[in-house]
Amino acid sequence: MIIKIDPNLCDDCKACLNICPMEAISDPFGYAMIEEQRCVKCRLCLTVCPQDAIKMGM
Ligand code: SF4
Ligand code: SF4
Repeated sequence: MIIKIDPNLCDDCKACLNICPMEAISDPFGYAMIEEQRCVKCRLCLTVCPQDAIKMGM
């Protein structure tokens, strides 16, 4: 299972960057991206995204 962010939905509000306990999310290109190696699948970021841009996938 992986957590993914849809760059077309993300408005770079940074809520997920701020809540991620692993500092796995960054936004070097103006939208949030998850560094998969660091992500522990806690799903905290999903709960705070106002754009519903963060999804679980296989
Ligand atoms: S699921 Fe948890 S560890 Fe992974 S990116 Fe989201 S907040 Fe960070
Ligand atoms: S919380 Fe959602 S909209 Fe905000 S930066 Fe993260 S993915 Fe983008």
